[in-house]
Amino acid sequence: MSRRTKLIATLGPATESAEIIGQLIDIGANVFRLNMSHAKHEWARDMSRKIRQQANARMAHVALLFDLTGPSIRTGDVETPYELKIGDLVEFRREGTEPTVPLSTTVNYGGMMDDVAEGRTLVVDNGTLLMEIRTRKDDRILCEVKNAGTLGSRRHINLPGTRLNLPAMTEKDHKDLALAIECEADYVAGSFVRDAAHVHELRDAVQALEGTAQIIAKIEDQEAVRNIDAIIQASDAIMIARGDLGIEVAFEELPILQRRIIKRCHELGRRVIVATQLLESMIQNPTPTRAEVTDCSNAAYEEADALMLSGETSIGKHPLRCLEVLVKITSRIERSGGLGYGQDVLLRDERQKTARAAVTLADSLPDARLVVLTRRGVLANHTAMLRPRTSEFYAFTPKNLVCRQLALTRNVTAFKLPFAASIDETVQRAANFLIESENLKPGTPLVIVSDILSNHIAANSIILHHA
Ligand code: PGA
Ligand code: MN
Repeated sequence: MSRRTKLIATLGPATESAEIIGQLIDIGANVFRLNMSHAKHEWARDMSRKIRQQANARMAHVALLFDLTGPSIRTGDVETPYELKIGDLVEFRREGTEPTVPLSTTVNYGGMMDDVAEGRTLVVDNGTLLMEIRTRKDDRILCEVKNAGTLGSRRHINLPGTRLNLPAMTEKDHKDLALAIECEADYVAGSFVRDAAHVHELRDAVQALEGTAQIIAKIEDQEAVRNIDAIIQASDAIMIARGDLGIEVAFEELPILQRRIIKRCHELGRRVIVATQLLESMIQNPTPTRAEVTDCSNAAYEEADALMLSGETSIGKHPLRCLEVLVKITSRIERSGGLGYGQDVLLRDERQKTARAAVTLADSLPDARLVVLTRRGVLANHTAMLRPRTSEFYAFTPKNLVCRQLALTRNVTAFKLPFAASIDETVQRAANFLIESENLKPGTPLVIVSDILSNHIAANSIILHHA
């Protein structure tokens, strides 16, 4: 049985060589993420080329995801990281201004000084540094360090509960998006999406550039949680961005939110990614903590579409091992079943109901395989959302782009296949392909669901065919 949970690896200095990218694909990476908060444009171009080359050499459908910085605050570059002690005063100032104290760095959002208030908490670098805002001036704030730690370059700042007046897409996001489209990104992720309008803005920007990328909304703060239904409906997929979300809400809420968002994504028929700190300790260590094993296993048990590695693969000491560990954990838990939110999918149209009937049929036949014929991938995603239990689930589509975009979808293995004029002939082609390439035994029942044109009629159909 193939692994169902898809895996996303973030590339960085630890994984930038063609050889390592190839090895990550061999181990099981389905999607590569470029984090535009860190990536320079030339580097991102180079990575995009390497990813495509390595994937093509293996005839693997691997998706490319550009993750935009969004309306978030990052510190500037410091020559050597600051070692901070409790009580130290650190200055955060507008770009283009001069430091007034020794521990000083810029922030990429000058309006921050207007949005914050003295006495508020400022959280740096995923909660590793807590500070209190002591004094606020028009172009800088001075903060008192509350716990010892290191402040490096381009660290992320959170201001829990503070509404930032940043636009949904910054100037930098527009530049990064243009690069993403130039590199033919399969996915673009919007950070700190606050409402559906933000998702529409991103989608419009992709379309204006004639891009074909699908949109992932990253859920990272309380406002996004309040608007979750509208955001899910506006997006192609949701990322539960636990790094920021775990700071912006009380951390004990996080597991509850994760489960609620996964359930809601199932109900509304959108894919969902669980991200951040899955194997955080493995940035340094060769083995995961028991808590990490349980967390990864839980996300796969909840039947998320994909799990994402960030620092573990971008800057960690053991990027390949991290992916191997995820492959082991997810493959194991999948054999013991899942949470079953696929039962709760709201079936809104005939196409979705046809998919449900096909899944029910396939699940009831011993050794049956489920096959979807899909032009744009929509029917494949609907079918996958129902979480079929057949040992294998294949999608055939004439387009490479759709194959790559299905790399994010739980359980499905996509193949490129030109469709024939008649559906019977397409079915025969698919069956022959599976017998040859997947060593399918002749006679294996195939439950085929399709909404493709047959003799110029678009028909939702289910065919039971013996290979
Ligand atoms: P980031 O997003 O890695 O871009 O911050 C993910 C998260 O916040 O969890
Ligand atoms: Mn984030």
